[in-house]
Amino acid sequence: MIKARTIILVAPSGTGKTTIAQRLFQDFPQLKFSVSATTRSPREGERNGVDYFFLTPSEFQSRIEEGDFVEWEEFYGGSRYGTLASELVKNTEKGYFTLLDVEVKGAVRLKQMFGQQCLALFLRPPSLEILEERLRKRNTDSEESLKLRLERAEEELSYADHFDQTIVNDTLDVAYQEVKEAVQTFMNTF
Ligand code: ADP
Ligand code: 5GP
Repeated sequence: MIKARTIILVAPSGTGKTTIAQRLFQDFPQLKFSVSATTRSPREGERNGVDYFFLTPSEFQSRIEEGDFVEWEEFYGGSRYGTLASELVKNTEKGYFTLLDVEVKGAVRLKQMFGQQCLALFLRPPSLEILEERLRKRNTDSEESLKLRLERAEEELSYADHFDQTIVNDTLDVAYQEVKEAVQTFMNTF
């Protein structure tokens, strides 16, 4: 069993996890990102080893068979995403907290695994209409991918009760303040 002090931001894609995570890294130098592996293609500006480890489907399959993942999921028409045990071990050995950006099912599994060593925050968009607006403005998805993300969002929103706290990301500064306070309180317990 891996030991790690983890913070998970859980939310439907497009809610604002990445935006909020970037602010957290500025405010908490003791917080490091867990870079996931994925089989989806890199978006413009994404870097291998920084945003994700971009793997081919066969590389991903080998890593599963080698037992390298703490959890992994397949969605959005066949793309796989997984948390690498090596990321958690690396951060923990250096005394860091680890921030994970994973979808709901992976997050439920990680919360069960780490219990009190894990703060799992669920972020909600103010509405599905606003979520769609944010995804369209971000302009990183095809119409097909956008549709899949929105369909999935409805199901994901029903998982909110599995997590420690729900925060609505309506006005960014207000939501961020709530996230920051929850993270500070969690860190103070160690
Ligand atoms: P996620 O990581 O959850 O997929 P992002 O952080 O990429 O989401 O945010 C999706 C889009 O919405 C981005 O273009 C971001 O700038 C914008 N955004 C994030 N939070 C807010 C907010 N509170 N109000 C308006 N736009 C936001
Ligand atoms: P995106 O393609 O927008 O980067 O991510 C799509 C979804 O995959 C997001 O909801 C993100 O949280 C999730 N995700 C990213 N990495 C992982 C991971 O390692 N495991 C799981 N289960 N989900 C992940």
